[in-house]
Amino acid sequence: MNIGENVERVRERIQSACRRSGRAGEEVRLVAVSKTKPAEAIRQAYAVGLREFGENRVQEAAAKLQELEDLDAVWHLIGHLQSNKAELACRLFDWIHSVDSLHLAEKIDREAAALGRKMPILIEVHLGEEESKFGVEEDDLGRMAERIAALPALELRGLMTLPPFFDDPENARPFFRRLRKLAERMGVRNLPGVQMRELSMGMSHDFEVAIEEGATTVRVGTAIFGERQR
Ligand SMILES: *Cc1c(COP(=O)(O)O)cnc(C)c1O
Repeated sequence: MNIGENVERVRERIQSACRRSGRAGEEVRLVAVSKTKPAEAIRQAYAVGLREFGENRVQEAAAKLQELEDLDAVWHLIGHLQSNKAELACRLFDWIHSVDSLHLAEKIDREAAALGRKMPILIEVHLGEEESKFGVEEDDLGRMAERIAALPALELRGLMTLPPFFDDPENARPFFRRLRKLAERMGVRNLPGVQMRELSMGMSHDFEVAIEEGATTVRVGTAIFGERQR
């Protein structure tokens, strides 16, 4: 498995999805999801030009980031965050995609303020039917966004979702479309200081469909780093 070739192929897929949907390739941010993969794999992806990486666990990221201090990379937290790890998350990460409760948002706000920084965040929206998945319910989104907009150390930049897994990625399309519509509806509300521009959606097997539906950030692991062991 060659990470350089994989990245090349993913970039080509992004470009052709952009062409098909009349978008510019630079509009789509590629976050390489390096969870469970060693620091060495991240270096290989960095060497072929990737600068943005996604991790889903704070502890795992802490160990890797120490090994990778010399890289000029942007780190995205994409997995569920427990509020007792918010402080460490604020030290390590540049973006948090997985804000799924007001309680967590308030915790991140306090920790970011204590560090003298602002944290760009996305609200994770739960669009599937499954009971167990994380994310804010559609009906609660408006109220939560209003409350978050008032938190001084948070920058609410958009929405993130993780649709149910389908063998045929076409089946994920309605979920991606719904997230975009939600973001548009929120944008119309013009919350002070809020720019709902980012749509973080699409993974290895369905990112082309997500791009066609307006994704600004795709989170791609397997197609870059290969299958995960766990
Ligand atoms: C693991 C993960 C990804 C990447 O999944 P792949 O199928 O390996 O591309 C994207 N988003 C989240 C939230 C993840 O946990």
